[in-house]
Amino acid sequence: MIVVMKQGATSAQIVNVTARIEQLGCRVHISEGEERTIIGVIGNGRPLDRRPIERMDGVERTVPILRPFKLASREFHPKNTVVPVNGVMIGGKQLVVMAGPCAVESHDQLLETARAVKSAGAHVLRGGAFKPRTSPYSFQGLGEEGLRILAAVREETGLPVVTEVMAPQQVPLVTTYADILQIGARNMQNYALLHAVGEAQRPVLLKRGMMSTLEELLMAAEYILSHGNDRVILCERGIRTFEQYTRNTLDISAVPLLKQLSHLPVIVDPSHGTGKWRLVEPVSRAAVAAGADGLLIEVHPHPEEALSDGAQSLKPARFAELMQSLEPVAEAVGRTL
Ligand code: PEP
Ligand code: MN
Repeated sequence: MIVVMKQGATSAQIVNVTARIEQLGCRVHISEGEERTIIGVIGNGRPLDRRPIERMDGVERTVPILRPFKLASREFHPKNTVVPVNGVMIGGKQLVVMAGPCAVESHDQLLETARAVKSAGAHVLRGGAFKPRTSPYSFQGLGEEGLRILAAVREETGLPVVTEVMAPQQVPLVTTYADILQIGARNMQNYALLHAVGEAQRPVLLKRGMMSTLEELLMAAEYILSHGNDRVILCERGIRTFEQYTRNTLDISAVPLLKQLSHLPVIVDPSHGTGKWRLVEPVSRAAVAAGADGLLIEVHPHPEEALSDGAQSLKPARFAELMQSLEPVAEAVGRTL
């Protein structure tokens, strides 16, 4: 449940309510709004009698949260969460476009891509150093060398970087290089990893599992939030269906649904969502129209030579066209690029 304090409730009253809740074996999460303070109560599974808390000084009312995710829920935190990354505000009025290659392949490849996507208007550079590949014989990423290249290109271009972390023991290493930690679809329910990034001092881009419901995605976000990291960005990247013409089926309704259920920013990955570069532009436009806070797009200077995901990667010139084509859609939904 949440405890809504009266406007002007004193800090002593807030402390009393918090102490009472903790006495009952629950944890608290305090959000200080402009008008009033909201105290989130994370229960211990046992039913809680709301009445004694409702009678306490300074309390306006209590509201039960019936959904299994609490910290991630809109009831708990009515205002949109905005995640700042080096001056870029993810979840604000401005759409945030993260673009770059699927995998970091070399310094030249990353720098060329980064310069191109930056001049086209991208805000964040993506690139995998640790790659979760279906086949153990496929390119697995450059590992720490890839992270060093990401950091060097960040220095050269000023673009913050997002990169995947695949295992809990990699979190400290990836955190020293990355501005945003990406949890890939295959790891959405790796609870040890969610725990580890929940304790990391970095924003987390959490991708929907390829066979996960939205509730499972929000429960995965809940793991990260409940370990103390409130900078979580959700990413719809398509789910597996019977359809064969696309790599995945991008669930466009996930965008407004997640925005209704949660306060967390929602971005869309049309590259993995479709698997086909020709579909990336129209699906990006649809995502923005549906209310996405940003996009994650794969761009490669020579997609035909890419070591991973060439078929869904845009050439830089096509990415620049895509950015232009987003402008009228962004404007129509009251966003800027
Ligand atoms: C990626 O972003 O390159 C990636 C591996 O994505 P996903 O985890 O969504 O498959
Ligand atoms: Mn990829």
